[in-house]
Amino acid sequence: MKALQYRTIGAPPEIVEVETPVPGPGQIRLKVTAAGVCHSDAFIMGLPAEQYTFGLPLTLGHEGVGVIDMVGDGVAGDRLGESVAVYGPWGCGECYTCSQGMENYCERAEALHITPPGLGSPGSMAEYIILDSPRHAIPLGGLDPVKSVSLTDAGLTPYHAIKGSLAKLVPGSSAVVIGVGGLGHVAVQMLRALSPANVIAVDVDEEKLRLASDVGAHHAVHSGHDAAAAIRGFTGDKGATAVFDFVAAQATLDLGKAVVHTNGDQVLVGVGAGVLGVGVLAGPYDSTIRAPYWGSRSELFEVLELARCGLVHVETEVFSLDDAPTAYERLHAGTLRGRAVIVP
Ligand code: NAD
Ligand code: ZN
Ligand code: ZN
Repeated sequence: MKALQYRTIGAPPEIVEVETPVPGPGQIRLKVTAAGVCHSDAFIMGLPAEQYTFGLPLTLGHEGVGVIDMVGDGVAGDRLGESVAVYGPWGCGECYTCSQGMENYCERAEALHITPPGLGSPGSMAEYIILDSPRHAIPLGGLDPVKSVSLTDAGLTPYHAIKGSLAKLVPGSSAVVIGVGGLGHVAVQMLRALSPANVIAVDVDEEKLRLASDVGAHHAVHSGHDAAAAIRGFTGDKGATAVFDFVAAQATLDLGKAVVHTNGDQVLVGVGAGVLGVGVLAGPYDSTIRAPYWGSRSELFEVLELARCGLVHVETEVFSLDDAPTAYERLHAGTLRGRAVIVP
């Protein structure tokens, strides 16, 4: 089968022919219908050899949807033919944290060398993908696979991040979304769907700010020297109740810190290299800094339900598997509207 693999440190990913995988005991196979392109892929492909820990060659793709077309020994065949979304942050399924559906924070994943598809295990940018358990195949329930594939990460990750602050986002509150690309433009919609907060989008790119407004942001602010003043112009003296930072570079962390309110949340989702100081007098009283990772299995059910209700969608640009390297070039150039989706 064809697959898009990262094979050489520092080189672009390549389309290669690999053996079509067969599910082992307890596993299932999907015929992939779509795979999403995430900035985290670009991040890991930008790491120097000494920091790269995801294995080579690596079949990319940690956002995936497909149809169950083969099951391994010990798996009932009753779901064959079902259209499913891949829950990516695989855990052991058995520890206390996994028992609550939070496999993204599995206690034993590291010890058991469990890695997500596309981030260690073979990913979805191929004609077929093996899932380690049917548990990780979440019913799509009638959703369009191409339009919904990125809900598995660009939807699930902001959902999990926002849920942690939802109790604070009362009427009169303000939420700032920094970086309205793949994850950020979904975050804006989720904030609008789940809270009465005033939503302020921040980006360096005018097109992305236009997208943010199109999907429901109340205000759009250009990132730069006067961004903090512009945000305070919309929040008033009390500042932002929650800042969701999908960049997390030093400049955006500093911006978030400059606008976050007493008792507010600064939520770091981007994998930028910024660092925030912590201390009794280092920030507003009782403010919280969190760095959430992906989301729980039950939250993916909730995200798909939000899409089914028509409250959240992903703006997508579609590429063929042969053209997948171009999608990564467009991501790098910052010219995608929403998410790039690969259709094998
Ligand atoms: P993306 O490239 O689609 O979007 C990033 C956006 O940030 C773009 O619109 C870009 O113009 C904007 N931006 C860049 N620099 C900026 C600045 N200084 N100020 C304001 N805006 C700026 O990326 P994505 O796929 O949405 O991913 C966003 C981040 O989240 C990445 O760092 C990715 O690695 C990370 N991520 C984290 C998790 C997690 O679990 N924590 C999961 C998925 C992705
Ligand atoms: Zn991702
Ligand atoms: Zn576990």
